[in-house]
Amino acid sequence: MQIVVVGGGMVGAACALALARTGHQVTIIEAGDSPLESAPTEQWDIRISSVHRANLDWLEMLGVLACIPATKMCNYSSLAVQSIDGQRLEFNASDIALPTLGAMIENLTLQHALWRCLQTESNVTVQTQTTVESIHWAERQLRTVDGASMPFDLVIGADGAQSSVAKLAGIGQRGWDYDMRCLLANVTTEQEIPAATWEVFRQSGPYALLPLTTHQACLIDYAPQGHHPQTENDVKERLQRQFRSHIGDFHLQQWGHFPLRRQRALRYHAQGCAVLVGDAAHSIHPLAGQGVNLGFADAQALVQVLQSASDDTLERAFSEYSQMRVSANQRMMRAMDLIHFGFSSQQLLPRLAIAGGMKILEQVTPLKRKLIELATGY
Ligand SMILES: Cc1cc2nc3c(=O)[nH]c(=O)nc-3n(C[C@H](O)[C@H](O)[C@H](O)COP(=O)(O)OP(=O)(O)OC[C@H]3O[C@@H](n4cnc5c(N)ncnc54)[C@H](O)[C@@H]3O)c2cc1C
Repeated sequence: MQIVVVGGGMVGAACALALARTGHQVTIIEAGDSPLESAPTEQWDIRISSVHRANLDWLEMLGVLACIPATKMCNYSSLAVQSIDGQRLEFNASDIALPTLGAMIENLTLQHALWRCLQTESNVTVQTQTTVESIHWAERQLRTVDGASMPFDLVIGADGAQSSVAKLAGIGQRGWDYDMRCLLANVTTEQEIPAATWEVFRQSGPYALLPLTTHQACLIDYAPQGHHPQTENDVKERLQRQFRSHIGDFHLQQWGHFPLRRQRALRYHAQGCAVLVGDAAHSIHPLAGQGVNLGFADAQALVQVLQSASDDTLERAFSEYSQMRVSANQRMMRAMDLIHFGFSSQQLLPRLAIAGGMKILEQVTPLKRKLIELATGY
């Protein structure tokens, strides 16, 4: 099939690569520059994704992991969540006989690696610094803003939360702002950092650590809108207060804020030839680092249903794709809401329920194992 993927971010690029490997002709339309124009710097950028084990295996099979330098990928083997009143739940890779639970990978590096792999595929064309102007669905012709016109059998919207494909296909979105911001800060530490990621939940929002190297970490601090620090000194002061007891002295390298929004497409396909993946279909609270993981799972499901699809059977393939992904994504979104609202609740009951739930999970091995499997994508 002739497939146009709109958006060459992590999900769009991975989806395009997997589709090209199964023999489709793929064109990527990307609004920004090609990531290959600039090599990732030596320092870690603050946009980092925790990619779970199952998706790492998929990226490895695609040959993408081999293009990621060891300096921009940090495997982790333990994950802990803790409530402010001391309830703790810890998951270890050894609990499910795996060497690691997943890895922290810099977003820019992952995108760069994906595009390097795309470059080697003769059936992939990329058009950068351009966007879609219009799509004639009946004639299956897409027009870009710079006047290029292209025929297609299928258009994949991988163009993020403000998806132009969703709009042009008439797919509505529903969502809300969490009224919170997320502070991300990369630091170098004096103490050694174990290969473990952890998160502590407070009423005002969680704070967390992602390990990057033995002496580098990304610190994450969520705060209600209007309560986040604005200057470098305020950021330092706030992070010191929160993290010093966990990791000792550290030096701030770079930081930034991100707003948090939940959004989902009302359907994942329309017009008989348009389908959404990744944040174009769902954007989720990042507290459990699941956004890109869900997007990669969408891409794998889509590639699977398209394997045996033809023009006549596209609708059936889309229904299958929706069945595979809509409820799985919504379950994860609801779980994130439950955690977010449960911990931030002023009411005693939801907080006690969560504390009780954590205690039960810590003690009931099969339940805990199930949760680890979910966190690793198995
Ligand atoms: C603070 C924060 C931390 C996060 N941490 C994690 C984590 O640890 N683990 C995890 O799994 N997820 C995490 N996420 C979520 C993750 O970053 C997103 O789910 C992921 O980036 C979505 O990828 P995507 O390719 O679907 O969309 P995007 O990353 O939004 O990419 C969309 C691409 O489409 C292009 N584009 C946009 N509009 C157009 C257009 N009209 N035409 C052509 N191209 C267009 C853009 O330039 C971009 O390249 C986090 C998110 C946030 C905010």
